[in-house]
Amino acid sequence: MFLDYEIPGDYSRKFILSFFNLRLNTYDHIFTTITKNMNEILNTQLMHPRDQITMIIGRIYKRGLTTTSGGNISVIDDDGSIWVTPSGVDKGSLSPTDIMCVKKDGTIVGPHKPSSEFPFHKAIYDIRPDIKAIIHAHPPALVSFSIVREIPNTNIISQAKHICGPIGYAAYELPGSNALGVKIAQQFSKGFMAIIMENHGTVLGGTDLVDAFQRFETLEFCARTILYGKTIGVPYYLTDKQIDEFETQIPEAFPEMDSVSYPSSEREKRMEICKIVHRACEQGLMISSYGTVSTRWYDNNFLITPTNVPRWDLQIEDVVQIKDGKREPGKVPSRATWLHQEIYNRNPKINSIILTQSPYLMAFGVTQSLFDVRTIPESWIFLQDVPSLAFGSHFQGSTEIPAILSTSNPAILIQNDAVLITGDKLLQTFDRLEVAEFSAKSLVMSTPIGRMVPINNQQVEELRKVFLDK
Ligand SMILES: [Zn+2]
Repeated sequence: MFLDYEIPGDYSRKFILSFFNLRLNTYDHIFTTITKNMNEILNTQLMHPRDQITMIIGRIYKRGLTTTSGGNISVIDDDGSIWVTPSGVDKGSLSPTDIMCVKKDGTIVGPHKPSSEFPFHKAIYDIRPDIKAIIHAHPPALVSFSIVREIPNTNIISQAKHICGPIGYAAYELPGSNALGVKIAQQFSKGFMAIIMENHGTVLGGTDLVDAFQRFETLEFCARTILYGKTIGVPYYLTDKQIDEFETQIPEAFPEMDSVSYPSSEREKRMEICKIVHRACEQGLMISSYGTVSTRWYDNNFLITPTNVPRWDLQIEDVVQIKDGKREPGKVPSRATWLHQEIYNRNPKINSIILTQSPYLMAFGVTQSLFDVRTIPESWIFLQDVPSLAFGSHFQGSTEIPAILSTSNPAILIQNDAVLITGDKLLQTFDRLEVAEFSAKSLVMSTPIGRMVPINNQQVEELRKVFLDK
């Protein structure tokens, strides 16, 4: 065994090092420093597998979706080498040099032992050449499903059926055993990209690691939404027809502009959007597969997130400029662009919009339970009353949402789809989102201990006079 520092094709690090022209003492120190801002500067798909694995396991650990010892990730190279997380190394402080490589001939390269679950990773790659990355973990909500032996219904939110595909189910076997590998590979041989492991956890495949992570995060989100929804009421699921309607909302209809310019005021907004999107992902307020953020630039022109770019990996060049009703050439803005345009056109005081799925708000978004924000003064002052509208009210051509929104009605729940929050500065809108999610969380958590007693009308009027009617 030896440390494999000089691997051909390790372009990403060389690029970073020359980019920042850093002169620090040790390689590891440089890399740790840079990893903190990696999301903002790197194209994940072009990173070396061991850097990708380190970054993704870091996200999974930080989001509370794996324990220090549980879970493993792998990526297969074109030459058949499999890069995999090591066995028995702290997931919270893994560095790229800890990632193991198992060559096609079985040679093991690296300082540790490969993951104890390596046999099932190998079994999946053997049977599914289209799968290039695998994530296995024991995230709490999916484990809840696995121990009651159920599969979450991904029709709970608009994009999940499309992202996750049908979900397989592998019966229990001893961890690390070849028998477990056989059971899991059998499920993947049926074409599934995601499976629930009985009394164990979940396994997700992907065409690359970003794809696998997006599927993992989305499936866990579905599980959480169903669990929290069932805590407060009865979840409603979308029909396949409703999901198809959502999938066709792709705004290529916005004509491309002939030429485009990027003044500094425009570039500033791009960075603002990227920072808020990354922050929302890190805080558990947005997942890779859904989330639209926009901010007004000037007049009714704005900048908005694109379609089909995983949110954790959003880069400033991905953000789309919309000017005079036209889109930046060569880019596809979010599905909700039409809605954002209408909101800016009709509401001059609204300067930023966040459309996202956060787990506790979505509990109210998938049930008929009232999201009553008359819980604590902060919640009502920030949100006032939050209407809940039917699925489809955000589709192109519907004017219901732009008409309801105003400065005294800044947030809306859209059933089985999202929460929409508006505000002046983007940071203020983000703060509102945080307050809304906290309020929803308190309401869900209070359900087992008693009925929420809202602050009364007189107290609300008092808040209005002191904090809003200025
Ligand atoms: Zn496991």
